[in-house]
Amino acid sequence: MFKKILIANRGEIALRVIRTCKEMGIKTVAVYSQADVNAMHVRMADESVCIGPSESAKSYLSIPSIISACEITGSEAVHPGYGFLSENAMFAEILRDHGIKFIGPSVPHINTMGDKINAKNKMEEFNVPCVPGSDGAINSIDDAYTAARKIGFPVLLKAAAGGGGIGMKIVFEENQLETLLLQAKSESKKSFNDDTIYMEKYLERPRHIEIQVFGDGEGNAVYLGERDCSLQRRHQKVLEESPSPGVMAEEIKKIGEISANAISKMKYEGAGTIEYLYENKNFFFIEMNTRLQVEHPVTEAVFGIDLVREQISVAFGTGMSFSQESLEPRGHAIECRINAERLPNFSPSPGNIKEFHSPGGIGIRMDSAIYNGFTVPPHYDSLIGKLIVHADNRPMAIRRLARALDELIIDGVYTTVDLFKEILTEDHFKSGEYNIHWLENFLAKQEK
Ligand code: ADP
Repeated sequence: MFKKILIANRGEIALRVIRTCKEMGIKTVAVYSQADVNAMHVRMADESVCIGPSESAKSYLSIPSIISACEITGSEAVHPGYGFLSENAMFAEILRDHGIKFIGPSVPHINTMGDKINAKNKMEEFNVPCVPGSDGAINSIDDAYTAARKIGFPVLLKAAAGGGGIGMKIVFEENQLETLLLQAKSESKKSFNDDTIYMEKYLERPRHIEIQVFGDGEGNAVYLGERDCSLQRRHQKVLEESPSPGVMAEEIKKIGEISANAISKMKYEGAGTIEYLYENKNFFFIEMNTRLQVEHPVTEAVFGIDLVREQISVAFGTGMSFSQESLEPRGHAIECRINAERLPNFSPSPGNIKEFHSPGGIGIRMDSAIYNGFTVPPHYDSLIGKLIVHADNRPMAIRRLARALDELIIDGVYTTVDLFKEILTEDHFKSGEYNIHWLENFLAKQEK
């Protein structure tokens, strides 16, 4: 097994990877920016290296600094977590050229899935159902008119290099098309330095259902059920659960098998997530993420496995510890993403944590890197913790989550905790009847 792994990330995910490494007897190296000198991941790792100033571009996104940190510490492998360099093919390639193992899929797989047009084409090869859309990129306004008339309004303009909902524009009528295309292009150029836009049918009432997949790189592949991530704000996930309260187990089995088959044919290595929209009993592929997801703990809870351990084992070449037959889901899990944000605008609320008390007890998992006295820096994502509950069934999971949220104390910064308390009391949430717009509508009603 690897003797030493460097974690190219920060916050709760860095800590989460360190925890598994410790259990596997692997030494860990933390990297940190000057803003994170006192961060928990730095305290918990066996060694740590400062890789630059606060701005991510000069630290957590600096490939040369991270490679140097690997070399100085003699790290054999890098776990990228999520975000930052986790889906950066160039990073994976440079590591490979330095003889350092990137814990994740191969460079061509990251490349293909990183471009959403290529990803759709690839998935179509494996008979994965996709959202009806343009044949590749929209290169001119005439292309846009032709595609939109063929698909039928409303349509959605999306950035091929997209992420985080950036560059996405819903077009309801033909006369909006030109302006919105220009806006989508300029947003995409600004965020991804790439203005390639494509078009999809805009689905009006779907759920977001994603399938966790895992491959050993040699053609063995499994799917580990679904996660329902329909509770979103601005196309960003807020709460996730598994199994989905809105999809039947046999439908999941079907799409799961289609997903695992694609992964097997690709000889995909490691953890991946195939994201679908689900409407009128049909699944439509939207994208694949070639990394561990923020919401992976709900899958871990339901299947009783450690996905990071499996990632590390597969990266080392010892394979997966499970087969499709051995994977048996149990009970229900829900995750809340706790952000340091001030409602109702969700504006970032960095600052000093005066008091932190984590909930506990049976079926509770709190993945967080904050502590009493920690200062949440203003430079990074506002996620400060994830509260995950697991119980025998969904009603019990909801009650357990309500109990855990009551126990949770975070003082000093504003957080999204109260929002979850309110969501849990809503009839539509309790009955599981929600789609990707439900949360936005709920928030809009509250503001009135
Ligand atoms: P990103 O990578 O920017 O997060 P995704 O393709 O993963 O973009 O989509 C994010 C969210 O945007 C989805 O979960 C869904 O809410 C919405 N979305 C994406 N494609 C469509 C579509 N064709 N119709 C309706 N909503 C969509």
